[in-house]
Amino acid sequence: MKFTPEIYSIADKAMTPFIDSNEIWDYIYKTTSTKEKVKAIISKSLSKQRLTLEEVAVLINADEPELIEEIKEGAKTLKKNIYGNRIVLFAPLYVGSKCANNCTYCGFRSTNKDAVRKTLNDQEIVAEVEALEENGQKRLILVYGEHAHYTPEYIAHTVKVAYSVRIGNGEIRRININAAPMDVDGFRIVKESGIGTFQVFQETYHREAYKTYHLSGKKSDYDYRLTSLDRAQEAGLDDVGIGALFGLYDWRFEVMGLVRHANHLEACYNVGPHTISFPRIKDASSLEFGDKYFVSDEDFAKLIAILRLAVPYTGMILTAREPQKLRNEIIQYGVSQIDGGTKIELGSYSKLEENTDLNKGQFKINDDRSLNEVVDELLDQDMMPSFCTSCYRRGRTGEHFMEFSVPGFIKRFCTPNAILTMAEYIQDYAPEQTAIKGWKAIAKNIETIEDEKIKKSVLEKIDRIKDGERDLYY
Ligand code: SAM
Ligand code: SF4
Repeated sequence: MKFTPEIYSIADKAMTPFIDSNEIWDYIYKTTSTKEKVKAIISKSLSKQRLTLEEVAVLINADEPELIEEIKEGAKTLKKNIYGNRIVLFAPLYVGSKCANNCTYCGFRSTNKDAVRKTLNDQEIVAEVEALEENGQKRLILVYGEHAHYTPEYIAHTVKVAYSVRIGNGEIRRININAAPMDVDGFRIVKESGIGTFQVFQETYHREAYKTYHLSGKKSDYDYRLTSLDRAQEAGLDDVGIGALFGLYDWRFEVMGLVRHANHLEACYNVGPHTISFPRIKDASSLEFGDKYFVSDEDFAKLIAILRLAVPYTGMILTAREPQKLRNEIIQYGVSQIDGGTKIELGSYSKLEENTDLNKGQFKINDDRSLNEVVDELLDQDMMPSFCTSCYRRGRTGEHFMEFSVPGFIKRFCTPNAILTMAEYIQDYAPEQTAIKGWKAIAKNIETIEDEKIKKSVLEKIDRIKDGERDLYY
């Protein structure tokens, strides 16, 4: 697919801020939404074309229940037609809660005297990763506050420690990072440790609102944050994740901001973000937070469907901040990755006692199902859990873009890899009931592979997994 100039509204320059709030509000206020327009835009997206900011504004302004339903159905269809039924699973691992910033919404903020400050040492990282591997995790995201201690070298070190852990058949095959933005050299150091995606969330794309929430510390510099992922690209780290924290400002503006950010990366580096995240603010230690910009479940579902249609070739992540029931619904609108078995208190994967003290985590999660419970429910919903890390390890960068644009890519790589990683999970970690369901799902998914050669090869590999081999992938 070609990115045509009309999707970029102002000239984009690398390493230069790109959000023009008047432009965004103009689109939102001056665009009207009719049934015909909404339908035409959804068809455009379903024909694999990228939406313009103006078209995104039309979807945002579609308020009638019937039109919102159309948008959600459109997103569902796009997910089904293009990505199929796979959901990739991962877990967050909180490494350090020290923080020099003062983000008013976060339990780790420097002024929160109730927060427990802790940084895992190497042995503790090993214990956490062992516990995660024993549950069947293969993909992690390491999370850190922003602190002088958490240098690029330190982060690279923790990544290497986590990759080195092996217990039974367990191993971590992909580590993503959510940490403070770095300079170009810093990103280079972290990239060399073998990470997958580096995520930096802008939190709010609205400059004035941003100021009111980020009171001190490095993060109070809006422009430095906005251009973070440009620096990552300059460092050769082209696998980046963007996000907005919904509840800080008007959700319509944030959706436009996210799309604008994706445009900017495409315009300057010819590669869009690997993933988009859309956390909603949750309760945190000593948090008193107004609800002026609270995003309702209905608007949340709508905005996720709009993002799916607007940036159809980007991965979308939905975390355990949201409750199980809502997650089950929203997954349908185009989410590609979710976390399972999540614990966010430092050191809590390897501890036996439950730790639900708000002071100990960054915020409160609302889905505390084990990884296996999540796997089980995905299977009940006819979804295929996947622990695939293949594209990243085979050097196939831009995997979502390829899934989207290369004919047959999903059938050739993604479905077989989801099946093989699920077969490993069943052999090594699943209780009997999940195993029964899992093998049924595998058989059903194998049926969908039309190419007899691929089918035969997948069946052979499953036999090898049953015989004890691991890490077979395409
Ligand atoms: N300290 C780094 C930073 O701020 O970029 C790492 C990320 S922080 C540990 C992870 C993300 O959690 C933030 O970017 C923010 O979007 C989100 N977050 C912070 N407070 C939250 C809250 N109360 N509820 C939900 N998400 C929150
Ligand atoms: Fe620190 Fe990140 Fe929390 Fe801000 S969001 S206080 S930078 S951990």
